Order: sequence, then structure tokens, then C-alpha cells
Amino acid sequence: MTEKNCEELAEKVEPDWEVSRHLTDGDIIVFNRQPSLHRMSIMAHEVVVMPYKTFRLNTTVCTPYNADFDGDEMNMHALQNEEARAEARVLMRVQEQMLSPRFGENIIGAIQDHISGTYLLTRNNPTFTENQALDLLRATSVDELPDPDGEEDGEPVWTGRTVFSELLPDDLNLEFRSEADDEVVIEDGQLVQGTIDEGAIGAFGGDIVDTITKEYSKTRARVFVNEVATLAMRSIMHFGFSIGIDDESIPAAAGEQVDEAIDDAYERIDELIETYRAGDLNSIPGRTVDETLELKIMQTLGKARDSAEDIASDHFADDNPAIVMASSGARGSMLNLTQMAATVGQQSVSGERINRGYEGRTLSHYEPGDLGPKPHGFVENSYRSGLTPREFFFHAMGAARGWWTPQFGPPSPATSSAASSTRSPNWKRSTTAPSGTPPAPSSSSSSARTAPRR
Ligand SMILES: [Mg+2]
Repeated sequence: MTEKNCEELAEKVEPDWEVSRHLTDGDIIVFNRQPSLHRMSIMAHEVVVMPYKTFRLNTTVCTPYNADFDGDEMNMHALQNEEARAEARVLMRVQEQMLSPRFGENIIGAIQDHISGTYLLTRNNPTFTENQALDLLRATSVDELPDPDGEEDGEPVWTGRTVFSELLPDDLNLEFRSEADDEVVIEDGQLVQGTIDEGAIGAFGGDIVDTITKEYSKTRARVFVNEVATLAMRSIMHFGFSIGIDDESIPAAAGEQVDEAIDDAYERIDELIETYRAGDLNSIPGRTVDETLELKIMQTLGKARDSAEDIASDHFADDNPAIVMASSGARGSMLNLTQMAATVGQQSVSGERINRGYEGRTLSHYEPGDLGPKPHGFVENSYRSGLTPREFFFHAMGAARGWWTPQFGPPSPATSSAASSTRSPNWKRSTTAPSGTPPAPSSSSSSARTAPRR
């Protein structure tokens, strides 16, 4: 049935006919992204018919679907009878899936630019003129501003926190710590202090979204998440947000400090190896001498990476976009930045330094039995300075996804189950061994071939 033939058909139609029609706005459909790993992999959406032939979806549901836009395919099912439509609307609608049945907090919420946007809006609490404030709120249901917060150049101005507060329920009271590590205080629906970032509105248990879902309603939470997303997008457009290669560089003096830290580590490792060769290395209880040496080397290199991170983070400005993304929880981590700007660090396969290759050595470029950092996959260059061919080779071993077994914390989202991307804000996946906590060498090491030998 189409618009053209609907009148003609309406006259002909008799009981028992099956009438097919096109989808229209407001129809409820079932939408799915494979692999369907949990309940929220199939949700019911309301249709908005748009031009062109690709599915488009509200980015706040990317998390439960585990969807991104690098070629993802999804399936849509148009429901064929009233019972199915009613069931879908009551049980499967997106807003009914706000809370994850796995960890009991919201799984739908702001992601990436939404988080950078609200961070920019609330971190330093900038001011906006009436036009700017209304522009930020243009896609929300708010069409009137509260009393201004002050005056600038004779014009009334509103702060970012006031603008954000317009989206909150009027009687909301909440206190929590933000991802950026400041205290967020909301009194009677007004953001009094603090930064709104992943900890507040994020898709994995963002405190405001979670609280609204549980204490108000799922409908209120849906409205809130939608409005936060649009406000954040306007905010990010207002300020402008981009990164380039210069944002990941540190001054030459800082680079030298990093080199110094690495050289210090090399020296300490040389001493360790000497002690080991002399047979004077005391083993840690429960470990062999070989394992002890490996552990201590990893520890030393880890510390060097840590100081590199400290040096690098000292030299990045707070308004550096990459820093904004890392500290707000929008995307990336300080480790990513360190690897770009300072040093990539130790590559590991199965939680150990790289030991595979030829007999007694990893590559024919090195002497057999050399236990130093470089022959076993320590990459001292940064991504920005560029890797040497040998570093590149080790990096390729460590970088292969799913090849290493995670040793530090919960299983990787990529290796466990994609859609249930583990909720672990503090745990960022990395191919380098985090310092301080060297991995326990596995006893059934397949790489004993080139393990330290006397
Ligand atoms: Mg994808």
C-alpha cells in the first residue's frame, strides 16, 4: 500500500486480506546487532524514516549494542501483528533497558564527545550570553533561561553549570566524585560544584543517569540522556575540539628527562644482570632466581615508564584536547598519551618479556644470552618519534590482539564478551606491562628456551 493507491485499495479491501505498507514514523521495530550476547543486543526502537539507505541510530545506545561505525551491520525486524508490537513496546523498548541486568547500573548513557562536551561546559564553569546559552539548549525541551548568574560588559551571563542544571530534575540531590577527581555537588537540581564527565553521565554507571533511572523513572532518564547528548554536542561545537600531532609532543627538555629516566633503568638492569651472573642474586620467596631476575627487570622498566608518564603529564596543558578526553573519561588514557609523546615501553607476550625467536636470542641482531631490555622487546622510542625496525618487530608481536593473556585485572572486553564490555573505568587495556605490578611468570612457560640462564 502506498499513498497513491491507498484510496483505491481502501474501497476494494475485504476481510481476510493481508495489507502491506511501508514503515512510517513512530512504528515500533526490533533492532539487533550481532553477536547477540546479552538482552540489550536486541532492543525495540521507534522508527524515524530518513533519506538514504543506511540505518542510523542514537549514539547513546552504542554501548549496549557494542556498536561503532567502522562497517558495523545491524538487522531490523518490522513487527507484523499487534501483540508483537505491544510486547516490544512494553518489554524491549530502549528505555526499558537502561539498567544492565549484569551489574545493575545504567548501561545507556553519554559516550565520547558527549563527555568531552559536558566536561568543557562544567570543568572551569565558563560563562555564556543569552544567545549562546539558548543555542546550547536549542535541541532540548528547555526554552526559558533561569535568572542570570551575573553580568559581563553590561550583558547578563549564565555559567556552564547553570546551563547544565536546566536538564536536571528540580529536586535532585546528589554528591559523588567525578572521573576528573573533583567533588560533584547537586542541590535541588542545581549543579553547585564539580565537573560533569563520565562519572556523572557515562554509559557504565554514570551516577546522575543511574540515580534518575532508579529514583525517578526510565522515561525521565531517557529524556535526560537525550538532552545531555544534544547539549554536549552544542557545547563541543561552541568551543571547538580537535587534536593534531602537535598536541602529543613534549618540549625537548622533557624528552631529555625521559631519556635520562630510561638510561637510569638500563644502568640498574645492567647491575642486576651482573649480580645474577655472579650468582649473588637472591630469589624472591617462591620464585626461582631466573624468575626473580625477570621480575626485577620488568619492575625497573615499569618504573621508568611511570616516570616517563609523570614527566609527560607535567608538560601537557590542562586544555590539551587529548588530556581533556583522557581525564574526562571520554576516550584514551594517560598511558596512550605517554606512548605517543614519551616512550612506548615494554612489549609483552603472555605477560612476559619477549623471549621467543632463535635459540638463546630473539633476533640475530643480538648476542645469544643477552638479557638486556632492548633484545627482549623494550621500545624506548615514542609513537611520535617513530620505532626502529627492531622495535617495530617486537611491537608487532605484542600488539596482536588476543595473543596475550591479561594478567592485571578483569579480562579484556575484547577477549571476554564484546557487548558486555567490562565495566572497569580504572582499568585501561594495554599491551605494555603496567609498572609496579610485574606479572607473575607462568610456571608452564613455553618461552623457557631463552629464559635467563647461568
Ligand atoms: Mg565495528
